[in-house]
Amino acid sequence: MKNLTRREFANLSATVVSGTILTGITACNPNETKLDLRKIPITKKVIDTHLHVVPETIDRCLQVMDENFIRYGLNIGIRGESFDKFMPKISKLKNRLGAMYAFDWDLWKTDLKFPEKAPDLLERAVENGALGLKNFKDLGLTVTDNNGKLVKIDDPRLMPIWEKAQQLNTVVAFHTTDPVAFFEPWTPENERWEELELHPNWSFADRSKYPERNSVLEQRNNVIKSFKEITFHCAHVANNSENLNVLDEWMDEMPNIVVDLSARFGELGRHPAADGFRFFEKHQERIMFGTDRMFWKDGEVQGAGPSKIFTKEEDNKFYQSHWRYLQTTDKQFDHPTPIQGNWKINGIGLPEEILKKIYWDNAYKLYNLKQFGVR
Ligand SMILES: [Zn+2]
Repeated sequence: MKNLTRREFANLSATVVSGTILTGITACNPNETKLDLRKIPITKKVIDTHLHVVPETIDRCLQVMDENFIRYGLNIGIRGESFDKFMPKISKLKNRLGAMYAFDWDLWKTDLKFPEKAPDLLERAVENGALGLKNFKDLGLTVTDNNGKLVKIDDPRLMPIWEKAQQLNTVVAFHTTDPVAFFEPWTPENERWEELELHPNWSFADRSKYPERNSVLEQRNNVIKSFKEITFHCAHVANNSENLNVLDEWMDEMPNIVVDLSARFGELGRHPAADGFRFFEKHQERIMFGTDRMFWKDGEVQGAGPSKIFTKEEDNKFYQSHWRYLQTTDKQFDHPTPIQGNWKINGIGLPEEILKKIYWDNAYKLYNLKQFGVR
């Protein structure tokens, strides 16, 4: 170790004591320390509004969160009975984790009256601490009624559910459809071929089985437009990060949408950085950070890609590429989920005041996290 001046040594000690990782001391001014924006979120604390965790993996989830500046994580959607098992496990962790409730639509197959019972199920879930209702992509793509008929998202039978959500003043989250490529023929020419090979059930290319992507997104938008008092948390940048123009129109047309960024940094970073910057700047009050980091019982997933247990280094790399996209103007680096398309991304270098909203303020406000002592 090189000899340190007294001041350098004082700085270094302060760094260690506070537990903050700083990149070091600049050569010209030993007093000036600088965050490495490729490695550390500028706020040093972030809310992840889109992760998945089950009762068995809570400790592991907290460990990874702690190692990567994630102060609070929203478990975005846990179904039926699993929700009931999960909530007691986080009763003493409410300043770290929250959860949204999701319906077990399979119940409709055997229970003609399921849609009538669903609003009460939601009400009970909210009473038990749910921060909202999550609709997974099965709604619109595969959920069928008791006659085996595909259910549209704007089906009149579902209206009482949205009415109940409005009455309860609770957030409704939608993960509707999937990337454009998942609806295109599953061949080696498909730009997400590798990913689909790993997850064959993510392909919705078969038109005899699955509806058109745009028509399902339209069904979702119909519900959003009909329930103006509900705030809709549209996961994965409202599932249209491929097209920033359409996304921008949606955001203008539907002021009750907020989006999370989870598992779409690959698509976002593919656009010219100036276009990305413009979108983030314009909608800075309505964008929330998210990763889609999954902590399942039998394996973990970093947004997409293989299911395994990740090393600390692999996780650091995963989270750091998120910070790097948002905080730097670096060019042509790996996105967090390289399996989601074989290309590099360009960072958009947002200013600190916008980053603060995306990492923290927007989610904090929407989910009223003050009530749980989140800080
Ligand atoms: Zn997810």
